[in-house]
Order: sequence, then C-alpha cells, then structure tokens
Amino acid sequence: MLDNKSKYTQRIKAEAKRLGFLSCGVSKAQFLEEEAPRLEKWLNNNMNGEMRYMENHFDKRLDPTKLVEGSKSVVSLLLNYYPEEKQNDTSFKISKYAYGTDYHFVIKDKLKSLLHFIQDDIGEVEGRAFVDSAPVLDKAWAAKSGLGWIGKHSNLLTQQVGSFYFIAELIIDLDLEYDARVTDHCGTCTACIDACPTQAITEPYVVDGSKCISYFTIELKENIPTAFKGKFDDWMFGCDVCQDVCPWNRFSKPHNEPLFNPHPELLAMSKKDWDEVTEDTFKKVFKKSPVKRTKFLGLKRNINFLKE
Ligand code: SF4
Ligand code: SF4
Repeated sequence: MLDNKSKYTQRIKAEAKRLGFLSCGVSKAQFLEEEAPRLEKWLNNNMNGEMRYMENHFDKRLDPTKLVEGSKSVVSLLLNYYPEEKQNDTSFKISKYAYGTDYHFVIKDKLKSLLHFIQDDIGEVEGRAFVDSAPVLDKAWAAKSGLGWIGKHSNLLTQQVGSFYFIAELIIDLDLEYDARVTDHCGTCTACIDACPTQAITEPYVVDGSKCISYFTIELKENIPTAFKGKFDDWMFGCDVCQDVCPWNRFSKPHNEPLFNPHPELLAMSKKDWDEVTEDTFKKVFKKSPVKRTKFLGLKRNINFLKE
C-alpha cells in the first residue's frame, strides 16, 4: 500500500504532466552541500562578470529553507521550448528560448495552477513559485531531482529530450518522496567545448559567464569588448551553439505551447531587415518576448557589433 508521501508525490507529478510540463522531480529542501564550494569558486573567479546579483543572497541560494521558511521539498519542473520552425539561415540569430512570449509569464501561471492543485487536493500546503529567479540554483535542483544531468556546457540535459527547456521550482512545506540523480552521459564528448565561439567553457562543466555571448548580448550594459569582435557567430540575442551541437539534442521534440510560437515576421527577417529594423517592428515582433529585456537600443548595439 502507498503511504501518503508516495501518493501525494504521484498526484503532483500527474498534475504537472497534465499542465504541460515535460517532467517533474522532487528533492528534499536542504543545504546544497556539493554546489556551495563550486559557486563560491565561480564567483571568486569573477565568472559572473557584471551580473552582480549572483553574489547576493549566497546563503539563501544554497539553502531553500532559508528562502522559504518551513520548506520541506523542492519540486522541479521542466517546460519544453524547442521550436518546430527556426529563423532563416540568412538572419542574425536569437536564442530559441526567446522566440515567443516571455517564459516567466507562461510558467508562473502553470506553477500557480500546480500550487493551487496541491492546496485543493492535499490540504494546507504553503509554498512559493520560482522561475529563473536569482536566489534558486534551478539546474542544481533539477539534477538532484533526477530530471537530467548537468553537462559540460553547464546546462541540464537528458538522453530523452536534450536540453531545450526551462526549469522552474515550487518550494513547499510538504514532505514528499525524493528522486535520485541520473548518470552523467557526456562521456568523452567535448562537442560543446570545441564549438563555443568565445571559448567560454574554460574546462568541462565550467562556463565563464563573463565570456559567454548570452552575457554580452543580454546582460552587459556597456559596450561589448572589441576583443570579441568577429567571434559572435551572428548571435544578436543569446547563443545556442553549445546546445545545438550537443548530440543529445537530436532527441529534442517540438513544444506544444502556442504562446512560445514566434511572430511570423521573426522567422522571415534577414540580416538586411535587422540592419534596418525600426523601433515599431521591434515592438511588434518582440511584443511579449524576453528580447524586450535588451530594449530596442540594446538589440541595435548587438546588431552593430556583428556588422562592424
Ligand atoms: S551559450 Fe554560446 S558563448 Fe555561451 S558557453 Fe554556450 S556556446 Fe559558448
Ligand atoms: S555536447 Fe557533449 S560534452 Fe557537451 S553537454 Fe552535450 S554530451 Fe556533454
């Protein structure tokens, strides 16, 4: 006979599936012992560049019980964003995760629905939802919960569906049945390290965020250092190279979330169109997309950097 912990865990996982999440795994909410020295070393080596927010809340980032009082479990969820259609080959590129509506809104709604389900179905459960938010080490939690392993490019990946998905969490005060890690299947492969246009993967499993194209094109507010000129491989917002070359992404399957579909014009635009892009077109094509984060002038800066 199933005990309550197992029953609740199964019901939560079934509801996560019904809501459209790719998978759901659970870990005990506790201090992330293994990640603590790694995060500290990464920050001490300034691999966060100007992303100073990563230095904040160090204790809370490593211990969910400090972030959400009384929490017992971290429920990790994956949501697929791999698109059926891609930008045309003659275009400057944006990362596939940013094609459609900003994932924060899409996932937050689903997480809220899952939390309400738990509260209706199980009882008085308190918790908080997190989507790509600075205080939670989402990849570490997803790996701990058996949803995949962290590859040499430092993304979470699986043998079944590769790595093109968002990661989100519910941190709740309910005891659940916890999942075990899966094995690392990177083996002797070094495809991501070899293909990175800026050599940002300085050693297996270590990405120097301050050299990554995603950082330069999205996070960096100042001018992009000229030393990186000609190295961006036409990426104007984010970069998917290390994921695109990963052999496990042969198994990526298109998402079925209409909100992640791109504006048709985004797929049709060429480099010339981007070069001449107006603020009106920017607003239309990226109406609800995460690309809005760079603002029109930020994207123009990136395009100019690619052209000059
Ligand atoms: S996202 Fe691009 S620049 Fe960053 S580590 Fe991967 S391949 Fe390198
Ligand atoms: S490209 Fe190879 S080394 Fe890199 S994450 Fe994928 S399997 Fe691992």
